[in-house]
Amino acid sequence: AAAFDEDCDLLFKAVLIGDSGVGKSNLLSRFAKDEFRVDSKPTIGVEFAYRNIKVGDKLIKAQIWDTAGQERFRAITSSYYRGALGALVVYDITRRSSYESVKKWLWELREFGKEDMVVILVGNKCDLSLSRQVEEEEGKGFAETEGLCFMETSALQNVNVEEAFLQMITKIHDVTT
Ligand code: GDP
Ligand code: MG
Repeated sequence: AAAFDEDCDLLFKAVLIGDSGVGKSNLLSRFAKDEFRVDSKPTIGVEFAYRNIKVGDKLIKAQIWDTAGQERFRAITSSYYRGALGALVVYDITRRSSYESVKKWLWELREFGKEDMVVILVGNKCDLSLSRQVEEEEGKGFAETEGLCFMETSALQNVNVEEAFLQMITKIHDVTT
C-alpha cells in the first residue's frame, strides 16, 4: 500500500473532499505552508502538497491531494481516490447543507476508495461560532456512528489544523505498519 521514496521511509497519499467553499484549500495551505510547495495545475485538475512528518522513528512523506474545484460539478473521478490511504471529509459548520453532503461524500469514498481508508470528519470555520448551523455534538455523534475521527477546525485562526492532519497521518502509519 504505502510506497517508498529515497528521502523518506514511507509515502502516503491522502485526499481532501467536501462541498465547494468549506475551506479545503485553505486547510491544506495552512498545513502545508513553510515546508513545501503547493503544485498548482488547474489544467490537470488537481493540486497537491507534500509534507514530511516524523512518526515514531519513521520519516513519512504525506502527499495531500486537493480538488481544483471539480467538486462543484460533482466531477471528482476515481483516479483522485486511487491509492489514497486517508481522507479528510470537510464541512462548514456555518452551512448546514455542506454537513448534509457528508453522507454523499462518504458514499463516494466507499465506492472509489480503499476499504480500510482512515477518514477524519472535519467541521471547519469554528471561528464563526455565531453563525453556527451544526452543533459540535452533532458532528461528533455522527462521526461516532460512522466510526470516524472528528475535529472542528479553523483554517483562518489555525485551530486544530495541524492536529487533524497529524491524526490522520498517525492513524495511517498505525494501520499500515
Ligand atoms: P474550498 O472550496 O473547500 O477549497 O474552500 P476554500 O479554502 O477556497 O475556502 C472558501 C472560503 O471560505 C474562502 O473565502 C475562505 O477564505 C473561507 N474560509 C476557509 N476556511 C475558513 C475558516 O476556517 N474560517 C473562516 N471564517 N473562513 C474560512
Ligand atoms: Mg478548493
